[in-house]
Amino acid sequence: MDFDLSEEHRLIQDMAYKFAVNEMAPVAKEYDRAEKYPKEVVQKAAELGLVGPTIPEEYGGPGYGFLEQALIVEQMARVDLGITQAIESAAFGSQNIVFFGTEEQKQKYLPPLAEGKAVAAGAYTEPDAGTDVVAARTKALRDGDEWVITGNKMFITNGTICDYMAVFCLTDPAAPSPHQRHSLIIVEAGLPGVVATPIKGKMGLRASDTAEVALDNVRVPAANLIGQQGQGFKHLMRFFDATRTVVAAQGVGLAQGALDMAIAYAKERVTFGRPLISNQALQFKLAEMATKIELARLATYRAAWLVDQGRPDPTYNSMAKYWAGKTAVWVCDQALQMHGGYGYIDEYDIQRFYRDAKILEIYEGTKEAEKMVIAKRLA
Ligand SMILES: Cc1cc2nc3c(=O)[nH]c(=O)nc-3n(C[C@H](O)[C@H](O)[C@H](O)COP(=O)(O)OP(=O)(O)OC[C@H]3O[C@@H](n4cnc5c(N)ncnc54)[C@H](O)[C@@H]3O)c2cc1C
Repeated sequence: MDFDLSEEHRLIQDMAYKFAVNEMAPVAKEYDRAEKYPKEVVQKAAELGLVGPTIPEEYGGPGYGFLEQALIVEQMARVDLGITQAIESAAFGSQNIVFFGTEEQKQKYLPPLAEGKAVAAGAYTEPDAGTDVVAARTKALRDGDEWVITGNKMFITNGTICDYMAVFCLTDPAAPSPHQRHSLIIVEAGLPGVVATPIKGKMGLRASDTAEVALDNVRVPAANLIGQQGQGFKHLMRFFDATRTVVAAQGVGLAQGALDMAIAYAKERVTFGRPLISNQALQFKLAEMATKIELARLATYRAAWLVDQGRPDPTYNSMAKYWAGKTAVWVCDQALQMHGGYGYIDEYDIQRFYRDAKILEIYEGTKEAEKMVIAKRLA
């Protein structure tokens, strides 16, 4: 791949960064403190095509690729990860429909997301099944023309505010392979039997809604099956092959934002009669931070570009996400340290960045899960 971004890529980056500076930066602290979902900001983002950027044009989206989505997410995450996640995840789960859905599903469920009139969720994790996703026990039983779904989902982004979710259900418990026992089914959030309970007190990402979702004999039409019955695991892995590049981009952006703050602070803060930045020990630290971020950026862009070429590489994606998450956590730690005591109070944004960073090593595959994928290729 030629890593020189095109003029169009630059325009997309500028647009996303300007949006972040003008619409996200002034309110980021407030939403973080209040643990409040930034509905108005998400709506404004939708008007600019920043929600669901990969939704195809025929379904009302801008029809960008995952590289463009990575560029958008990176620029927004430079400013605030919580609101970035709220914007980016407003269409989370919908890629399952883009990749595997029927024409009817696409026409019904995609346009409202792109317009900011609906929010989606992807409900895969359960209280006892996270990394080991095939341990999911939420059952979907076929009853005539309907699925009847019962179970519990945990840590669901947008759980309390979504209009619908793609739910990972056990449909074929007797299939010989555990990888052929599940299916993805669309569940509309307002149906009887769906109860979402918000999870409060998160360490970071506090502007993003997270919930526990209980499903009690929820009836949905048989036509809500996404893709093939029994192929839910395969479909989900294909979904993650694309969306993990977005999480990697979150890491790159967050780390870049933290580095920018560290440089600005080190120039301004004076100790022993001279600016912090005049110490070579700190210059070397900044150089290390910049280098790690640049490597994460290159891996992320390439991973996303491969998805757009129709050649997603799960190992490469895992490397990009693992490295970007690890880099973000490490860079935020270094940047906070450079702020001394001021880094520890929430008047300075670095404290929020530090708290937000950790999620990048946990969701959409923990760093251990990423290493499992990488090691599999090596063995
Ligand atoms: C803020 C937030 C938002 C989220 N959003 C969503 C969402 O929208 N949809 C959704 O479905 N899920 C979501 N999740 C869930 C997230 O993807 C899971 O938390 C994650 O996959 C880990 O699963 P777990 O918490 O069950 O940890 P576990 O699977 O119990 O793992 C615990 C620890 O053990 C490690 N571990 C597990 N097995 C092994 C092994 N074999 N070898 C070595 N180490 C191992 C893990 O890496 C982890 O560090 C979200 C989580 C959070 C916190």
